[in-house]
Amino acid sequence: MPVNNRIADFHDEITEWRRTIHQHPGLLYDVEETAALVVDKLKEFGVDEIVENVGRTGVVAVIKGRKNDSGKVIGMRADMDALPIVEKRDLPHKSKYEGKMHACGHDGHTAMLLGAAKYLAETRNFDGTAVMIFQPAEEGGAGGKAMCDDGMMERFGVQEVYGLHNMPGMPVGEFAIRPGPLMAGTDEFTITIEGQGAHAAQPHNGNDPIMIATQMVQALQTVVSRNVDPLSSAVLTVTAIHAGKAYNVIPQEAQFYGTVRTLDREVRAMVLERIKTITQGIAEAYGAKVDVKLKEGYPVTSNHEAQTSFAAAVAKDVVGESRVNMDQLPVMGGEDFSYMLEERPGAFIFMGNGDTAGLHHEEYDFNDEAIPVGSSYWAKIAETAMPAG
Ligand SMILES: [Zn+2]
Ligand SMILES: [Zn+2]
Repeated sequence: MPVNNRIADFHDEITEWRRTIHQHPGLLYDVEETAALVVDKLKEFGVDEIVENVGRTGVVAVIKGRKNDSGKVIGMRADMDALPIVEKRDLPHKSKYEGKMHACGHDGHTAMLLGAAKYLAETRNFDGTAVMIFQPAEEGGAGGKAMCDDGMMERFGVQEVYGLHNMPGMPVGEFAIRPGPLMAGTDEFTITIEGQGAHAAQPHNGNDPIMIATQMVQALQTVVSRNVDPLSSAVLTVTAIHAGKAYNVIPQEAQFYGTVRTLDREVRAMVLERIKTITQGIAEAYGAKVDVKLKEGYPVTSNHEAQTSFAAAVAKDVVGESRVNMDQLPVMGGEDFSYMLEERPGAFIFMGNGDTAGLHHEEYDFNDEAIPVGSSYWAKIAETAMPAG
């Protein structure tokens, strides 16, 4: 079965929602405008239940099939938040809020899930319950975790959960997935060196925290190249370094920070341990003090085996066997759908966004041509997981 015909009929309507959402972006949990649009539409569709403020500003909708003998409950999730980026392109639907922009396509994700909600509420051609999850704060605010912490899975009896992300550079009408780790776990580190400042011309009176910091940054490069098994993966990137204010003063303090991305628990623990050992050892060698702060970010997004095969089969049903890549390589970006996958079995899939600018780029725009594909995928997830017979 290709793209669902009834959903293809909604293409223009869903595109209009997508563009309205694009024009009114909200950051992190401040997605009230988008959540209000979602609630309005869900009411219009006549879904069975709408619960607001799950995980602060999240919305959950329940759609019951025309039968409920199976007792099955399938969760489908979209994210609603935008990014603090100034939109570059002069699109007709350009962001109305300077400095906020849907540069990750969450406007498209929300609109496509709404499109499926409209279809499912109208047809109800399944045996069970579809739970549509609209979450805030994917971009660093752990909104997915907030919804889980609010007891979402138990409250709505969700048994399996599915997520989707658009992928620039992959043709529209293609999907990619893999079982196991698909996206990285993220951690942040902040290293502060408390040393001894001095006159720049009398370095022997201090211990130069800048020199110590640069040695640490260099030594940290050996974690991935010398400690991580070459067949495993990790990223350790220093993204900022701050110290000093004058040409003739060696400062008292230096600080740098950055991110760690890993695909499994053991590698993650080892990398974080090495950060401590290396920085403490170097600080000691030069007689400085070091403070190491580690902040745990999103867990690894790890797809469950059976649900991955199921999601791939549904995607193949929508776009054809040859257009679903089952061997997608893991991506070192993070994704907070990972929290939902820690609570319930499920799968996260990538969907082609065509030849657009990359995610988080100021010239990015979600590709509306992909809408029928994404909405059909969602409708088919519900109808296939809970066949009406
Ligand atoms: Zn993003
Ligand atoms: Zn995203």
